[in-house]
Amino acid sequence: MKFLMIILLVLAVIWLWRTKRPGLPLSKKTTPTASNPLTMVACVHCSVHVPAGDAIPGKKGLYCSDEHRRASEG
Ligand SMILES: [Zn+2]
Repeated sequence: MKFLMIILLVLAVIWLWRTKRPGLPLSKKTTPTASNPLTMVACVHCSVHVPAGDAIPGKKGLYCSDEHRRASEG
């Protein structure tokens, strides 16, 4: 039974070590910024994803085009 406890402890340590490791792209959710053109952002008007570099910033968020910014904000 002591052997089983050691295995569980080792597994727990490995699990903690894996979850604490930085740089995993799936677990890290970054907020979209216009500075990184490779980041895809969703248009708040039509939800189409566009590169952050091409997105139009508005009062409510980012838009795929100036047309949608005007349509949403009036
Ligand atoms: Zn749009």
